[in-house]
Amino acid sequence: MPDVIIVGGGLGGLVCAARLATGGKKVVVLEKKPQVGGTSTIFRRGDYAFPMGPLSFSFPGRVREFLAEAGVEQELACRPSRFALSAPFGTVEYSRPLRDLRKDLKRVFPEEALGLDIFATELGKAMVVVSDLDRWHPDYQPGAGRDDAYKKMRTAELNRYRLVSQYGTTPAAAILDRLFSDVRLKAFLGSMGTERPSMSWLNLAHMWNVMSSEGIWFPEGGVHWLADRLCEVILARGGEVRCPEPVRKVLVRDGRAVGVATARGQALEARWIVSNADYKTLFLELLDPGDVPPEHLKLVRNTPYTGSELCVYLGLDAGRADLSRLGVEHTFFRRQQTGTRASDLEDFDEREVEVCHWSAQAPESAPPGRAALVLRMGFPYDHFSRWRTGERTRLDGYKEYKTQLARKLVATVEPLIPGLSRAVDMMEVATPLTYRDWGNRHLGSIAGWTWTPEAAVALRSKLLVETPVPGLLAAGAYAATELFLGGVPTAMFTGRLAAEVILES
Ligand SMILES: Cc1cc2nc3c(=O)[nH]c(=O)nc-3n(C[C@H](O)[C@H](O)[C@H](O)COP(=O)(O)OP(=O)(O)OC[C@H]3O[C@@H](n4cnc5c(N)ncnc54)[C@H](O)[C@@H]3O)c2cc1C
Repeated sequence: MPDVIIVGGGLGGLVCAARLATGGKKVVVLEKKPQVGGTSTIFRRGDYAFPMGPLSFSFPGRVREFLAEAGVEQELACRPSRFALSAPFGTVEYSRPLRDLRKDLKRVFPEEALGLDIFATELGKAMVVVSDLDRWHPDYQPGAGRDDAYKKMRTAELNRYRLVSQYGTTPAAAILDRLFSDVRLKAFLGSMGTERPSMSWLNLAHMWNVMSSEGIWFPEGGVHWLADRLCEVILARGGEVRCPEPVRKVLVRDGRAVGVATARGQALEARWIVSNADYKTLFLELLDPGDVPPEHLKLVRNTPYTGSELCVYLGLDAGRADLSRLGVEHTFFRRQQTGTRASDLEDFDEREVEVCHWSAQAPESAPPGRAALVLRMGFPYDHFSRWRTGERTRLDGYKEYKTQLARKLVATVEPLIPGLSRAVDMMEVATPLTYRDWGNRHLGSIAGWTWTPEAAVALRSKLLVETPVPGLLAAGAYAATELFLGGVPTAMFTGRLAAEVILES
């Protein structure tokens, strides 16, 4: 019998399994898809390779630390990714220190100079408070360590602790509304784009800390490099990785998780179960409702996740499109900005699209003379739900509908990339249904729990690694209520923590 069964081979599950295997535990990873890596993988279409999920990530130093602790000996090499907003009011590169950005913004919005100074000071303070949150905040310590950390808090920590709680329940929009009158500037500072700010001040501080202080980085070996190395460690240390091996149920006996039932009808038992399936999938699908405290089930049901997206992958004849205006790897582009939020989701001229020059970041993803581009636009799952008839099955007409949306998105981006439509020689389209059925995420969610103050208020704790079901731990991006290190490192952090809980038990 294995010591630990890990359901899901995304980065959270793999870090946990590798750390446990390195610590001498017998582990089995059961992954639903034919390969490990979860959303942090690539897929191929003809001569092109595209990312299933993450394009890049933050906190490479922490990622190196998690990899080393998990037993990976190879050094992770990264290069920086740059981000810009291109909106009707101008183009701003914002992946740089806040003080430099403030100077540029004062030139574009001179009447908001005072507000910009106050904002930079206040945000700067909040960024310092959150920059190393997991190193001192008691909620980030596992088990008994948490109680100890609470007891050991002195005045300085207590003040920071209170500030973090306050930031978590303060809507960023309330602060921005006090400081600025220009809706375009409020939108930019509050969303790094053109949307009405909806997140908490805490999440805004995390987001700017990632963007302007820690930076966003691309791993030189590709986004799948991390999963490949972790998998090697698990196998080398005697662990087992089974894929495809979907898990249907987590088995609970006398109130404790004791094993899993696979979709193929096999029952497997272990002393510990770690779920890398997202938290809602775990509690609403893999566990029987009778095995979960009803109030916890209610919280999980009622607290929302972030939404999903429409994603268009393009292979291009590089000679036919003018890519020179994409000075950076990621450009958030909006053609018109007459309101703060289009009510018609298909009015793309009034919406923001992320344009990632993927082959500039990952040159091996396109053959010579070609380029690879990824266009992404936020979309709620509900907009597409009517097309889904079952797992991976769709109503007739779905393909035509998503292709029509993809063509429209390409046309929307044409002013930024002249010649784009005629340069396309390969196109693949993902929708929220794709992220549900191929990403195996609850309703295709992408970026963790809601970033509004709602999650902080409802879920209370920072981490959800230790679940109310004894013997069952959660690992992955949804095992934290905030993506405090960004998606990839947060998933890895929770995987490492789940392993520590088991190793210390
Ligand atoms: C489209 C998209 C774009 C993103 N972009 C970024 C980005 O640019 N930067 C960033 O840092 N983060 C990004 N993220 C977030 C990213 O998903 C995380 O950063 C990280 O890769 C998540 O790892 P994870 O381990 O939490 O989960 P996942 O990658 O979701 O892995 C979970 C695994 O569990 C498996 N599983 C689920 N249910 C079962 C079951 N019943 N049985 C067996 N296996 C199961 C799944 O198949 C999957 O392999 C993005 C996510 C998406 C979807």
